Amino acid sequence: MAKSRFEYVRDFEESDAVMKQCFIVLRIDGSNFHRFSDKHGFVKPNDERALLANRAAHGVMQIMPDCTIAYGQSDEYSFVLRPDTTVHGRRRQKLVSLAVSKFTAVYQFYWAHFFPETALLYPPAFDGRLVLYPSDKILRDYLAWRQVDCHINNLYNTTFHSLIQKQGLTASESEKRLSKTLSKEKNEILFQLGINYNDEKDIFKKGSVLIGAENRKENEGEIDLWEAQSSEESKHLQKRQVLVLHVDIIKDPFWQRYPNLLLP
Ligand code: ATP
Ligand code: ATP
Ligand code: MG
Ligand code: MG
Ligand code: MG
Ligand code: MG
Ligand code: MG
Repeated sequence: MAKSRFEYVRDFEESDAVMKQCFIVLRIDGSNFHRFSDKHGFVKPNDERALLANRAAHGVMQIMPDCTIAYGQSDEYSFVLRPDTTVHGRRRQKLVSLAVSKFTAVYQFYWAHFFPETALLYPPAFDGRLVLYPSDKILRDYLAWRQVDCHINNLYNTTFHSLIQKQGLTASESEKRLSKTLSKEKNEILFQLGINYNDEKDIFKKGSVLIGAENRKENEGEIDLWEAQSSEESKHLQKRQVLVLHVDIIKDPFWQRYPNLLLP
């Protein structure tokens, strides 16, 4: 390409390649999803149609072949890239912007498929950030942190909404009732309302874990199969199949079962 005298302005761009040999985590979170879920009538505390987020995460894994594992709960998703990835020159802004825009685009693209009876009232937005983790241990602690957060919030939300739906409390009464309660007490409140928290669905208690379908053992989990609407879309989708699990990723067994998720 011919150079123009304006070309020098490119040198004002800063290099933002992130440190080598660290796991790259891209975390995406829905912007103001409390309102978004309200306005679109999400069932509280957990609407299964929000599986749409898993589809959006699959979309990100399609464009990030070096993403070994993704973990999602509520309105957030984390994508882990192998420490030795050289994708997009490890450029921070390139990676964050691609992950966020792909996630957002897929979320909208499949909205009607997951919410056939609910019109999308306004375009949702997501924020994104990139964090580096220098060791297996810290990466695992990061994912454990997100899964513990899922557990704490889900137990709280399940109890909060059960008090409203089953006991007729107002939102502020329910909040008051739960203030300063420990997990054990929340479990007891639920039990008195006829709910055994252990029987709640794993997808809500544990969140969603996405790994490449090549890792699948003995027909476990589900392969996310998309119904392509066009041949162009189906070409795009065949790039990468993804296995969806709702399992514990805090303790060792998961990592012993899939040792290659951590090895470069
Ligand atoms: P911010 O823009 O700061 O992220 P936010 O309103 O998105 O604000 P979060 O802390 O991210 O706040 O919380 C996400 C909210 O989305 C939850 O509190 C819950 O109300 C709602 N939400 C997410 N997933 C679901 C779901 N599957 N079913 C029902 N509600 C959901
Ligand atoms: P990268 O992912 O590196 O950005 P790219 O293929 O998007 O790769 P760009 O250098 O960003 O490459 O160039 C954008 C290309 O998009 C242009 O070369 C042109 O082919 C196409 N394009 C952009 N806008 C239009 C338009 N309005 N009409 C037709 N083609 C367009
Ligand atoms: Mg937030
Ligand atoms: Mg949010
Ligand atoms: Mg959130
Ligand atoms: Mg371009
Ligand atoms: Mg361009």
